[in-house]
Amino acid sequence: MNQKIPSKFLKSLENLLGRERVLIREEDLLSYSYDSSSLIKIPSAVTFPEKKEEVVEILRLSQEYKVPVISRGAGTSTTGSALAHKGGIVIAFSRMNRILEFNEEERIVRVEPGVLNGELKSFLKGYGYFYPPDPSSYAFSTIGGNVATGAGGPRGLKYGTTKDYVLALEVVLPGGKILKTGPSTLKCVVPYNLTPLFVGSEGTLGVFTEIVLKVIPLPPKRILFVSFHDKEEESLGVISEILKKKLTPACAEFIDKTTILALSKIGVLSVFENKKFSSLLYLELDGEEEILEKEKALVEKFYKDKGIYFEKAQEEKDIENLWEIRRSISPSLKVLGEKRFAEDVVVPRRFMKEFLFKIRNLEKESELPICCFGHAGDGNFHVNILFNSEKEKKALKVREKLLKEVIELSGTISGEHGIGYIKRSFVNLELSPLQIEMMKKLKKVFDPDGILNPQIKIPD
Ligand SMILES: Cc1cc2nc3c(=O)[nH]c(=O)nc-3n(C[C@H](O)[C@H](O)[C@H](O)COP(=O)(O)OP(=O)(O)OC[C@H]3O[C@@H](n4cnc5c(N)ncnc54)[C@H](O)[C@@H]3O)c2cc1C
Repeated sequence: MNQKIPSKFLKSLENLLGRERVLIREEDLLSYSYDSSSLIKIPSAVTFPEKKEEVVEILRLSQEYKVPVISRGAGTSTTGSALAHKGGIVIAFSRMNRILEFNEEERIVRVEPGVLNGELKSFLKGYGYFYPPDPSSYAFSTIGGNVATGAGGPRGLKYGTTKDYVLALEVVLPGGKILKTGPSTLKCVVPYNLTPLFVGSEGTLGVFTEIVLKVIPLPPKRILFVSFHDKEEESLGVISEILKKKLTPACAEFIDKTTILALSKIGVLSVFENKKFSSLLYLELDGEEEILEKEKALVEKFYKDKGIYFEKAQEEKDIENLWEIRRSISPSLKVLGEKRFAEDVVVPRRFMKEFLFKIRNLEKESELPICCFGHAGDGNFHVNILFNSEKEKKALKVREKLLKEVIELSGTISGEHGIGYIKRSFVNLELSPLQIEMMKKLKKVFDPDGILNPQIKIPD
């Protein structure tokens, strides 16, 4: 239920932003009560600042009235991290979506948090530059949200994730003080390096109003290989062997047999005609034409020597058509169960086969479909446990077992989606009491009254 906030506070917000930029009607608030998790939390108000001075004032007022503040980009969080779990106000960044500066000499871009990742990519492409982090949601998620979650994607293998591109942040703290984490130079060792502390902080430490990102020249060409494997784990072995040949593909994406079942049911695998396979591997190479030709020859030889069937695409249109299959995984999973627990775990690459083996055992034991796909080049798997409502308890147990297995294999329970609300109860499986205590102390330094994104990331 919508928690009451002081009417004087609300009046001050309306004076600041005008009535049209402060939503309070329940039917309007509903649109901001969900994200891509299955949770629903109705906030007390939604604000739409257009400049940093307004964010400063919102945070000054929220601190004065002790009202929770939830930053929101596009609301694509899969963990409930953009929701008002204890009521309070949402700051929606849809009107702070300007690209403020692109400096080719410095190879940096300075943006407001509401810029969409895909828009930034298109803007930079016009200049022959590239911002590599590519969550599958890149077309509709914001840079602010990407920084706050530490988003990653298929290209993480060669280019790293959001954390590798954030040079500096302008952050508004509760009370309205502005913190600049550093200059936008490529090097700086004067302050404690606070920038990485904010990357992945899920809105719990401060509110970003400006973000300086490193950009790189756009790789001129790419080639995509899709290989077909009878034995599921064979494709994971391919990744290790290719890396040992000192090749670094831009992406190495794995699709397991249960995911293949879902994709076949929605008909998108018909392009592969009557081929039989139990796993697929997407391997994309990119770079300068001359080097790419050499790498292409190496990969082709590798597959031929091993007797592994593959297809390759070199034209942009054909490459995108094949990636479309990969992008349809998430919506296709509905055919295997009405609900799902979607994990984004990481295991060291050397344990990937063992991890897959454990998943198949859990699937057999529980008789629930478990799909495993994703950025295997980084050891980062999206594991989805599918179930219908009556099997929810069983699915919860499977989920806990799965996360424990990940920790036993020296992995982590989240590589890119974050902890949000829904994974908080699992954090102590991975972190020591000292790590959790340090996180709580740091939170207090930035947000002494706990008004920023309450009940997100840090366990009670
Ligand atoms: C179909 C689909 C595919 C996805 N694929 C991927 C993937 O491949 N890789 C991946 O990493 N994620 C993926 N995600 C998850 C999600 O898209 C990412 O976490 C994304 O970074 C969230 O961005 P957003 O703009 O939607 O942020 P929101 O969901 O609105 O917010 C996410 C977090 O950021 C905080 N935040 C937002 N703006 C600010 C700000 N200005 N200051 C401080 N904190 C802020 C919020 O409070 C919240 O904690 C996917 C989601 C969907 C629905």
